[in-house]
Amino acid sequence: MAVIPVYKVLVLPDTNVYLKTERFKKATGRTPRVDEHVTLLMLREETQKEQLTPSSFYPIGVSGAVSEVHEEGWFAVRTRGRVNLDQAAVYSDGRIEAYTSRREDSEVLSPQENARKTADVKAALTEFAKATQWEQVSRAWINQFATLSDIASACSPWMDASNEERYAILAEDSAVKRAEMLEKLIYEALEMGKLSQEGSSARQENYQKMVRESAIRKQMEYLQKELDEMHPENVSDIRRLELKIQESGMNETARREADKLLNRLKQEGANGAETGMLYNYLDFLTNLSWKKEPAREIDLDEAEKVLEEDHFGLKKVKDRILQQIAVMNLKKEQSGSILLFVGAPGTGKTSIGQSIARALQRQYVRVSLGGVRDEADIRGHRRTYIGAMPGRIMDAIQKSGVSNPVMVLDEVDKLSASYNGDPASALLEVLDPEQNSTFTDHYMNVPYDLSDVLFICTANTADTIPEPLLNRMEVIPFQGYTPIEKQQIAMRHLLPKAREAVGITEEQLTVSEDAIRAVISDYTREGGVRGLKKRMDTLCRAAAVNIVRKKGETLHITPENLREYLDMRPVRHRDVRESAAPGIVTGLAWTAAGGDILYIEAMLTKGTVQIVITGQLGDVMKESARLAISLVKHRFPDKAVVFSDHDLHIHVPDGATPKDGPSAGVTLTTAIASLITGRPVAPKIAMTGEISLRGEVTPIGGLPEKLMAAQRAGVEQVLIPCENEDDLQDVAKEILDQLEIVPVRDLDEVLARCGIEDAKPIPKAV
Ligand code: ADP
Repeated sequence: MAVIPVYKVLVLPDTNVYLKTERFKKATGRTPRVDEHVTLLMLREETQKEQLTPSSFYPIGVSGAVSEVHEEGWFAVRTRGRVNLDQAAVYSDGRIEAYTSRREDSEVLSPQENARKTADVKAALTEFAKATQWEQVSRAWINQFATLSDIASACSPWMDASNEERYAILAEDSAVKRAEMLEKLIYEALEMGKLSQEGSSARQENYQKMVRESAIRKQMEYLQKELDEMHPENVSDIRRLELKIQESGMNETARREADKLLNRLKQEGANGAETGMLYNYLDFLTNLSWKKEPAREIDLDEAEKVLEEDHFGLKKVKDRILQQIAVMNLKKEQSGSILLFVGAPGTGKTSIGQSIARALQRQYVRVSLGGVRDEADIRGHRRTYIGAMPGRIMDAIQKSGVSNPVMVLDEVDKLSASYNGDPASALLEVLDPEQNSTFTDHYMNVPYDLSDVLFICTANTADTIPEPLLNRMEVIPFQGYTPIEKQQIAMRHLLPKAREAVGITEEQLTVSEDAIRAVISDYTREGGVRGLKKRMDTLCRAAAVNIVRKKGETLHITPENLREYLDMRPVRHRDVRESAAPGIVTGLAWTAAGGDILYIEAMLTKGTVQIVITGQLGDVMKESARLAISLVKHRFPDKAVVFSDHDLHIHVPDGATPKDGPSAGVTLTTAIASLITGRPVAPKIAMTGEISLRGEVTPIGGLPEKLMAAQRAGVEQVLIPCENEDDLQDVAKEILDQLEIVPVRDLDEVLARCGIEDAKPIPKAV
């Protein structure tokens, strides 16, 4: 059975449809044969044979048989019933295969009613023909019609109906309504004919009133279009907006709002007070993409290749992304779980978002939310404000030019509430799949469907993200890179990219592996690779200067000349101290830059039993300090007498950096215990863990980052809470190889490990 796609043709059941033979040839590669079965399918838009896909067709068509093939290049199809297109396939040679099932009418038109309507229309046509010189010919032509559909099909070429209007008639299930629509269309065509002839008489008074106005409008639109095409330079801004509104495909609410504002703009004129605002609004609305993009099947292997190309390592992250793509493929959806990438700066969170877009072959947009305090930043200002603007989300959608971009929301942990509302709750609405299909930006004031947008959020820490927002997302940690990984990233990605950005070749700048290693260890101090990237950029610029000054065509960077070209001092690394003293213990912290080591220092001074805490500690750490003092007093009752006439001073160096968090509990307790027992703790032992009042060591976060920092600083042994042992799976092997990890359960074990020999079991509480 031949399947013939048609466009802008009125296809109706039980009538004759006339088509060009060329169409048949294009679809089947041969000429039509009389009596063969055909299915006519309407195209949504005129599409080249090579670009046809199953979704190019409307879901309802018509079946029939070829009744006539004419040598002059046309053929006729006698149609039968309407059919549902159940499934379609388009082959590479353009041939179409369709599985269809019959579609019944919901209401039938009685033969008498059909005959009456047909007679009326025929009378109107004959009347019209009287005014022309073809009266006699027309009469015979008109008389041959038996049904309304026949007339409509025959008049189809002269009708000014769009493809959608034509399809709407075919898609109408009620034959009665379909007849009404046909009548309207025929009378409209007649009126158009009359207008152009300036004929004035009309028989069908009722219809005339209703139809004449719309016919005049169509005529005006048509003439205006012709004029615009002749003189595109004269098309006014308003006309341009009008055309854009018509073509945009907005939803109904938006269309109504746009039409309303366009009318206001017309009334305001060029110098009205609101002209600018109205113009900007309509410009924004019409520049948005209102088209629903079809879901694409993504080849997983290809996607994996793209992800591998752009980023080194990050295996777990990439695996999770591939899972997401697989689920999207299966469910034929364009979005899915909202991923939240958490990690230190420069670990590739934002740039992998870009790779995901590339892997999905979709547009990429980035919205930075750092420092956003105002709800209107997310959801827009109401139009009544002077200088009102859309929110950042809709602005990004407009910039992307599509309705389904991959949107990276950067730094969601830096959102903060203020008296201008809570941006986090507005963001919740954006991300919630239940609500975001009708997201209403205050400025736009009409709903927009965000459900096809794939959202990816990034943050340095999940701690400051409000709970309801965090609940909606799936946290994927980015742990920072080991020196070996950094070396690979620098050689494979950062250096080649930096060379390309400056415009130099591989021969013009070579950097030895030792030099890169030296950059990583001596000129950067970070969990990510942002600093490393800057250093590589600096080296490339140095090479560029060299070439331009003609000092030499090549520059070879070695660890020896590194300092000269980087033009900076090596960063001071915090290596563990060599000497031990009572009261000083090495701790591990989780910072924005990954991890770091820190010392906790405690000292007793003669005084009035005060506790002094310095080093910009937050409330949580101050509480940990108090807890530590109580624990030590309880643990060493006879040594604790010193507290009765001494002040205790606790300090955490690097006083300019605020520090907070509970994970220094064990370190604080050990420092105080070491102080009052007079036993120094080896600085090469570092520790992390919360502590309870009963002396149990409880788990902490950020273990991989902390261990990396410990290894960097030259620590040899790390005490970690027993319950964190599982996290060791996430730590790179080369780090674990260089550290002795000791899981500890309680304070006794910690003290024993640190050689505070007075370790006695905690006396039972009284
Ligand atoms: P973040 O968003 O985590 O702060 P970015 O995505 O901005 O980090 O990354 C900073 C730079 O480091 C980018 O130029 C990125 O291409 C590069 N980068 C980070 N991780 C990798 C990696 N695994 N492989 C290659 N390049 C990386």
